[in-house]
Amino acid sequence: MEVAAAFERRPTRQVLVGDVPVGGGAPISVQSMTVTRTADHEATLQQIYDLAMAGADIVRCTCNEIEAAEGLARIVPRSPVPIVADIHHQYRMALAALEAGVHCLRLNPGNIRRPEHIRTVAAEARDRGVPIRIGVNGGSLHPDLYEKHGGRVTPEAMVESALDEIGYFAEVGFDLIKISVKASSVPLMIEAYRQLAEVTDHPLHLGVTEAGPPPAGLVKSTAGIATLLAEGIGDTIRYSLTAEPVEEARAGRQLLESLGLRERKNVDLIACPSCGRAEIDVVAVAEEAMSAFADREIPLQVAVMGCVVNGPGEARDADLGIAAGRRRGHLFVKGQNAAVVAEEEMVEALVEWADFIHEHGAEAALARVDTDRAAREAERDREGLLAEQGDDANDAGARIEEIRRRTG
Ligand code: SF4
Repeated sequence: MEVAAAFERRPTRQVLVGDVPVGGGAPISVQSMTVTRTADHEATLQQIYDLAMAGADIVRCTCNEIEAAEGLARIVPRSPVPIVADIHHQYRMALAALEAGVHCLRLNPGNIRRPEHIRTVAAEARDRGVPIRIGVNGGSLHPDLYEKHGGRVTPEAMVESALDEIGYFAEVGFDLIKISVKASSVPLMIEAYRQLAEVTDHPLHLGVTEAGPPPAGLVKSTAGIATLLAEGIGDTIRYSLTAEPVEEARAGRQLLESLGLRERKNVDLIACPSCGRAEIDVVAVAEEAMSAFADREIPLQVAVMGCVVNGPGEARDADLGIAAGRRRGHLFVKGQNAAVVAEEEMVEALVEWADFIHEHGAEAALARVDTDRAAREAERDREGLLAEQGDDANDAGARIEEIRRRTG
């Protein structure tokens, strides 16, 4: 079966959030949000830099008080990525954030309700050419819509809320719009986005709100966001996790890379699931490697494998990998044995080789070592382990015997 390089995407209009295009065929962008007080501009800027390093293209900061708007005025000129101001309840904060120079606003139609206030903000954003995200949230739906839809949050009610807001914006000739219809229920948000995609061509910002801490929060967010992306819906995404914000940015980036929707930027770490053959604690070494590579911009696939018996073969497509055997790490490049290091130095060796390959290429990396010798050493450990463990280290034969005995 022919596999398409990426999913066909729904055509949308494009808006510019600072210098980041959203929609209209632009690469899907990753967003995250700071958790510092925006008024503390130094701490907030530090977090914005951390988020940008972790893969965020756009960062949102709350603008909930006048000190926050003043903080934004200091933050925006020094930020490495465009800044979105998050506005709830007070439309005056939206005007203050625009004055501070933010690149986008997020308005929640459920809690800025007076049409004249909405129009005032939209007119100001129009004059400044600043886009607005209409951020409908299942948990804070406009009370009238809640009533109208039977006292329940439904996909229809959420879509109607977004369309009402677009209507207010249209009255002042404003259409630099992105929309989100988030909910904490995955099926609800999926259906709301599907319905919204049917009735508008504005770019969509995807997310599962209040997804909670990882791993459940990651699973919920991925279930919702990935389902829609695979249907071609979505132009920018945010994981809302109860975790360090950098986790959100990393997760968003990794999701897009794993779907082939963004070019790989960081290491794609793969690891075997471990089994009776494992010569090391695969989980611990993989975690150690994850943190060693965390913020390094090296677009390689790197494998951590539990044994030299099967590891190099199972991970032969990785750019670089290491497999354990008899207290040693056997390093391989594209399936070719390259070096042998002490078990304690496995992660260190991976980082050194990854850096070198990234800078000079795999051929140059291999040219500096004796690959024949590395292959002989790997074969020696492989044969030694096979001699010790036999070819059934996972006791599969005994299980098969038992299955046959019980079913025979
Ligand atoms: S056979 Fe080796 S590489 Fe494969 S899962 Fe088991 S330990 Fe990992």
